Amino acid sequence: MKITDHIANAEGKTLFSFEIVTPEKGKDIQKLYDNIDPLMEFNPPFIDVTTSREEFIDIPKENGLFERRKVRNRPGTIGICAALKGKYNIDPVPHVLCGGFSKEETEYMMVDCQYLGIDNVMALRGDKMKHEPYFTPSVGGHAYAENLVEQLSDLRKGHFLDPNMEMEFPMNFSVGVAGYPEKHYEAPSLSRDLQALKRKVDAGADYVVTQMFFDNKKYFEFVDAARSLGITIPIIPGIKPVAVKRHLDILPQVFHLDIPEELVTEIESAKDNKAVKQVGVEWAINQSKELMAAGVPVLHFYSMGKADNIKRIAEAVF
Ligand code: FAD
Repeated sequence: MKITDHIANAEGKTLFSFEIVTPEKGKDIQKLYDNIDPLMEFNPPFIDVTTSREEFIDIPKENGLFERRKVRNRPGTIGICAALKGKYNIDPVPHVLCGGFSKEETEYMMVDCQYLGIDNVMALRGDKMKHEPYFTPSVGGHAYAENLVEQLSDLRKGHFLDPNMEMEFPMNFSVGVAGYPEKHYEAPSLSRDLQALKRKVDAGADYVVTQMFFDNKKYFEFVDAARSLGITIPIIPGIKPVAVKRHLDILPQVFHLDIPEELVTEIESAKDNKAVKQVGVEWAINQSKELMAAGVPVLHFYSMGKADNIKRIAEAVF
């Protein structure tokens, strides 16, 4: 079922969902299940499955030189979606990226999704590769998520890239896109970034999932600004509990967000990471309760492969 239908069927009740990261190549899928199983009692109607970009690795050769190879260390997004659908009977949401994929490869992925009965995809540009100064589109790929959404909308109208190729039944799935309450780091201003979001919506996006944030005020202001631009689709807040002291450095660096002073102080004064986890869980519970009271359609958690803190939050909130 489409996410938008799940939201409509909930009739104003806030739903619980979460995102998982595909395991590293060679790792046992059981570990993934071990972190999903404890969360199933909260009835997530959908689970997002990330897609990771390819990386370059340098392999030493006998002559002392190196051979540079492109590898994907966390493949398997569609396979894991199929596994989750079979095991848990939920709607998996594969993330589809511009970076690292040509338009043809995207089309093949969507054909797989159609065969598997996958009803939703999250359309993202992806980040730059590690060695790149800024994002460069792959050969034959899209530059912006907006263009990817256009391609997905074409598939829903029954159009493949090759105009001579016929589709018996148009594809039928909903499309999610990313939104940034604290602005995407490359955008010159929040207002320009919101205009980019509006273009994704105009291209056919059905719902938005936000980047994590720790100050609900930023989410509420973002939603108000989006609504005043004419964006009427659901805007699902993304929540991540702080779990270790290092997050104070990592989260702002990687996700380009602010951590409120009060939370920084609480984390800094926690005596160990067990105490930090407690602070993170309590903060996320308060955030979730306020968001729920404001009537958000879904609370979407970035689990990052760890269920225990998400479970504690869900127990307190749902
Ligand atoms: P876009 O919407 O294309 O925006 C990228 C930047 O370009 C923004 O600054 C925007 O303002 C600007 N822009 C857009 N259109 C134009 C235009 N026409 N001209 C000029 N500027 C423009 N990454 C992964 O690699 N894998 C994942 O699975 C993944 N999942 C994510 C899930 C969520 C909910 C979120 C919020 C992010 C996720 N990301 C993931 C990260 C995401 O790929 C990065 O944040 C990426 O840098 C931007 O992706 P986007 O889809 O928002 O890009």
